Amino acid sequence: MCIRVHYAPIGTAPPFDATTQTITLPPGLDREHTVTAARAVLVELAVPQAKFGALCFCGEPLDLAPLIPQQRTGEQAVTHGA
Ligand SMILES: [Zn+2]
Repeated sequence: MCIRVHYAPIGTAPPFDATTQTITLPPGLDREHTVTAARAVLVELAVPQAKFGALCFCGEPLDLAPLIPQQRTGEQAVTHGA
């Protein structure tokens, strides 16, 4: 199972949950800092990292997709279903 990324405020979840293979990162960071934070956790987990990006232990780039591009949301309301 690949490592997944979850966004939650610091202190509300462990940085890494081994059960769900989920890294928790603080929301609201820009992409660069999000990658940096992800890499920091991955290094702690002894997952080899390339020069750029954040890699799963299988070598695939992590999906940091929950990031919402700040300029593209525009007037469109965020309508996440509960
Ligand atoms: Zn993987």
